[in-house]
Amino acid sequence: MPPGDEQRPRPPTEEPPCMVPGCGAVSERSLALAEARKVFPALPEGRRAHLCRAHYKEWKKGTKKDRELRRLGW
Ligand SMILES: [Zn+2]
Repeated sequence: MPPGDEQRPRPPTEEPPCMVPGCGAVSERSLALAEARKVFPALPEGRRAHLCRAHYKEWKKGTKKDRELRRLGW
């Protein structure tokens, strides 16, 4: 290994991992923790909630359903 080869370029995935317990996938989105907790109440403390693509989708679905249910009079 030639000297200096240890200084590798930073990996493109600098985002922290998904914060949903048990997931740990690379996060793609971050949103306000309070918002995220409406769908994922088990999220750890923090300022922002980092979610992977799958969980972000789930969050979007969850919040949408919430709105629809309210419209239906739940
Ligand atoms: Zn996730």
